[in-house]
Amino acid sequence: MKTYDCIIVGTGPAGLGAAFRLNDQKPVLKILIIDKEKLCTGGLRHDCKMNFTYPVGFPVDCWSSKQAEHYLPMVIERLNPEFMQRIELETYRRRAERLGVSLLDIRQSHLGTDGGLQLIERLMAELAERDVDVSLGETVKDVDPVARRIITNHREIGYKDLILAPGRGGFRFLQNVMAKAAVPFLDNIVDIGIRIETREERFSIVKDYYDPKFNFPGKVRTFCTNSGASYVVKERYETREGREYFSINGHAYSNSRPRNGLVNFALLKTVRLTEPLASGQEFAEMLGCQAMLLGGNNPLMQRVGDFRLGKRSEARTFCGDLYDFEPTLSDCTCGDISLATPAKILRPIWNSMKLLDTIVPGVMHPGTIMYYPEIKLYANKPRFFDEHFQAAEHIYMVGDGAGTSRGITAAWASAIRAADGILAS
Ligand SMILES: Cc1cc2nc3c(=O)[nH]c(=O)nc-3n(C[C@H](O)[C@H](O)[C@H](O)COP(=O)(O)OP(=O)(O)OC[C@H]3O[C@@H](n4cnc5c(N)ncnc54)[C@H](O)[C@@H]3O)c2cc1C
Repeated sequence: MKTYDCIIVGTGPAGLGAAFRLNDQKPVLKILIIDKEKLCTGGLRHDCKMNFTYPVGFPVDCWSSKQAEHYLPMVIERLNPEFMQRIELETYRRRAERLGVSLLDIRQSHLGTDGGLQLIERLMAELAERDVDVSLGETVKDVDPVARRIITNHREIGYKDLILAPGRGGFRFLQNVMAKAAVPFLDNIVDIGIRIETREERFSIVKDYYDPKFNFPGKVRTFCTNSGASYVVKERYETREGREYFSINGHAYSNSRPRNGLVNFALLKTVRLTEPLASGQEFAEMLGCQAMLLGGNNPLMQRVGDFRLGKRSEARTFCGDLYDFEPTLSDCTCGDISLATPAKILRPIWNSMKLLDTIVPGVMHPGTIMYYPEIKLYANKPRFFDEHFQAAEHIYMVGDGAGTSRGITAAWASAIRAADGILAS
């Protein structure tokens, strides 16, 4: 059986961040990076907008501002982002503050889905040149923490240190490893919400600030705004029992693509389950399945005009008159999101829409579309026994799947933190 100094599972930003850091600092280390896909599947590949200011993307329970500021320059050095301008921020901020809403000033860059692809290809080629072994299309099925080996669909491989960075899609895999390695974990927090799609002139702030970060009362925030050549998409997930459900998401291409005049962004509410403590993941899955039930195995979409009148949207009237643009996600059911969304979630989101419409007038136009559900499973929180995200002896867990990040840059930073733990040991 072949043995590596370090095996990294996942070629998302976390996996790549770890590989570069280890190789930069100690080129003699034998490193293997594995992914079940032929190409990394995460945010680098979708939209690739990057936020470089704490706390966006950095869960505050495992990151202080000082820690983030220590690692962010290293992420910037490798990814070499071109920062976008933010204009007229003070005007928006003043309007927001009057309503008890805050607007964060975040350094951002945006490569777009096509630009992200080029970045991935460049980074992967660089790793291969550095003698890091890369295995794509290989799935890690199991980990034996005692014998220090992983079992894939092709072989068994030994490790001295293991970095698991399987992303949100690897939630179940990570939970299985945690059960096997006796790592206690919590998964009581989840973000649930809707995605808005409207004409760009009805959310004109995007001309001044690409991905504006508003925080509203009731733990609601704007998230992942896309404009230019922007599209709403649906991602497939499976519950523990194998039931299929979809979560909405959005992305945009780079400026080289023709603009479609639309913008999309999420309004997410953070839900923290307390007594009796329950799994946020199971709660979210249940809501996902409920939406599938009502949508005939598809997510739901509703025009704001219909929502205000308390009636469902229907396919035959979905476009026309004031409903004046085609949805970019057509594979979605025109219906009633309020039938599928708990009031405790929908009410603060609707209130936030009203506040947003006062700050950036236009977003509540009758033609605006609300898609449901958008679910973010950030909830796997292993109990780490050191500050380098070591969850069991020689096993480090990082990135969105392990709850150490909520975005590309923090995923990369959290992996550097883990790599530094390995380098120091
Ligand atoms: C559509 C979409 C758009 C997004 N847009 C943005 C954005 O613009 N900006 C931003 O900051 N964030 C964005 N995100 C979030 C971003 O993707 C994540 O925050 C980030 O990618 C997390 O990095 P990660 O390395 O933890 O996981 P990922 O990037 O998800 O990478 C995990 C990798 O592990 C692999 N893997 C999983 N399990 C196994 C296994 N058992 N064996 C082998 N390989 C495995 C997966 O195939 C995957 O390639 C977006 C996400 C999506 C889905």
